[in-house]
Amino acid sequence: MAENNLPNGKGYWGRILWVDLSSGKITFEDLDDALYEKFLSGAGLGAKILWDRLPAGIDPLGPENILGFTTGLLTDTGTLFSGRFTVVGKSPLSGGWGDANAGGYFSPWLKRSGFDALFFSGAAERPVYLYLDDRTAELREASDLWGADTLETETRLKERYGPRVQVACIGPAGEKLSRISGIVTDRGRIAARSGLGAVMGAKRLKAVVAAGTRRVGVADRRQINRLAKEFQERLAGKKGLQRFLTDGLMGMMGRITRHSRIFPRQPADLWRLLLSKFGTTAITAMSAESGDSPIKNWGGVGYLDFPLSRSQKIGAEAVLKYETKKYGCFSCPLHCGGLLKIEAGPYPIPEMHKIEYETLGAFGGLLLNDDLFTIFKINDLLNRAGMDSISCGGAVAFALECFENGILTSADTDGLELRWGNAPAILQLTEKIISRQGLGDTLADGVKRAAEKIGRGSERFAVHCGGVEPAMHDPKFDPGFGTAYACEAAPGRHTVSSYTYLDLQVLEKKFKKAKKIPSLTTYKEKYRTDNKGEALAVNGFFKMLIDGAGVCLFGTQIGGNFPLTEWINAATGWQRLPDDYLATGERIAQLRQAFNLREGLNPKKDFRLHPRIYGDPPLPKGPAKGITLDMEALTNGYYQALHWDPATGRAEKEHLIALGLEEIIPVLYGEGHH
Ligand code: SF4
Repeated sequence: MAENNLPNGKGYWGRILWVDLSSGKITFEDLDDALYEKFLSGAGLGAKILWDRLPAGIDPLGPENILGFTTGLLTDTGTLFSGRFTVVGKSPLSGGWGDANAGGYFSPWLKRSGFDALFFSGAAERPVYLYLDDRTAELREASDLWGADTLETETRLKERYGPRVQVACIGPAGEKLSRISGIVTDRGRIAARSGLGAVMGAKRLKAVVAAGTRRVGVADRRQINRLAKEFQERLAGKKGLQRFLTDGLMGMMGRITRHSRIFPRQPADLWRLLLSKFGTTAITAMSAESGDSPIKNWGGVGYLDFPLSRSQKIGAEAVLKYETKKYGCFSCPLHCGGLLKIEAGPYPIPEMHKIEYETLGAFGGLLLNDDLFTIFKINDLLNRAGMDSISCGGAVAFALECFENGILTSADTDGLELRWGNAPAILQLTEKIISRQGLGDTLADGVKRAAEKIGRGSERFAVHCGGVEPAMHDPKFDPGFGTAYACEAAPGRHTVSSYTYLDLQVLEKKFKKAKKIPSLTTYKEKYRTDNKGEALAVNGFFKMLIDGAGVCLFGTQIGGNFPLTEWINAATGWQRLPDDYLATGERIAQLRQAFNLREGLNPKKDFRLHPRIYGDPPLPKGPAKGITLDMEALTNGYYQALHWDPATGRAEKEHLIALGLEEIIPVLYGEGHH
């Protein structure tokens, strides 16, 4: 491969790497500035490349699928919170658009290799990994690593290439083509959703080793630094408030959030404090109380079925006892992460990343399990296997409910008593899912496929959105999540749009278009469905901007007016207004939607939520008592804001033209061939 020595001062290299795993051929491709101006980098660039290069209708686990690793436009530019990478490909779980992102340190090292993104096509005959540095891009034999878990893989590759290289890899779950597997970096941070670990496994690509050292140029270094300093000063100015809100808050929050219709806000300052001290574990107990966490496979009520006395056993304070060190991703000043050491209990773990709320929720309240040691052990197993804890927890919940209702018997479970809260059985079933043994083999591809195989009426316990297990946020608590679960191109996704995020991000102060956002904090209006579509759509566009920039969502939720668009201007030299960027975010959202339509999916039908998610039948007690969300009205509002046809989800031609997306019209409207 020719030497990659582009001069640049735009925050991006303008260059991507193509690796054909079938032939072993490696080539680079220079991209026009216009592509970055329209789609940024990260998820936006990924969506554009997949739209242009991926034929519709291919098998996501076949060699035709393309798997991309994209860095953010702001990655390694000196901006804060900008260390995330996004993996893209056709999802083997939903059958449509797939993406997942993660933080850690992989993304900047990949970008330092001189590329904004890597795209893999084809499939290798034998296991390989890609080694990348300033001058080299080479496929190397990985048969000796095949079968190793992600921690062992990373350790061995670092022994080979030195401790400063960064590794993204799959574990046994991806190798065994589990459709709920992900891609792991930094000894346990995972791009978990969409099942893209299986795509990597199907390509027999064990790992990517990134060892680049070159820093991308930017247009205005001083402005980048100034914006970073001002942002941090704004946050530091809030320290007094932080102290005021400090310790002892957790119990109080539990009580307050129980009355969530009276005081449902998680203001940005409070959220920053909680994240920096506890990470996402902060919300575990309060979310079980408030109705944010789904309980007992979405059929239970938090404070009755999993009361504070139990949820606190797996809550923030309980986890914090095991933290030995804080952890922050690349360029992160907040450090919501941590490293844990578990010496007590039946499953000692010398070191692992602090567990996240999603995992505590999925293996806690969702299963009525309050055994923290078991959940720690499962977290470690899933990180090592490279498996999505949300989907895996959903699969276990499904199996438990099937067993409790006699659909599965101990003959199906190799004798496991799959009862609610039976921690040893939950652990053993998780091990079976990872190794695809017995019932675990059926569950390893998610609940939708499992129910299809099991039959016997089990589908009524298979809680999913378009084949994807929803995250640990109940739309009956925040109907914005329900709208996103049903309307997002990656269904069941919790990071894109919600009332909670709108409250935290205060977008109406950043974007003129967002001025129309109604006051979401008037929670008398929480369940009003006719005036939220625009706000949630704008929230979604903002998230696409975040994913194009490669920024951590939390950076934008902690107050201090995160200067996202100003930073993009400073890195690139563009002079664009915030609302121009909102259009960029929408363009990415529209392209992801178009990808699904091209695959023949009709999100209105194919991403229909399991009725329990929106309260049908309504829960008899608790904060969501009697609530059935009008999903038709909620999705219609969102569709209207995106100019989508209410029946098909196809965007109006004129609107696509206004967004500069003329190129997708012939495909969406069947006018000629793509
Ligand atoms: S806030 Fe947490 S997840 Fe985000 S960049 Fe910092 S450490 Fe990583």
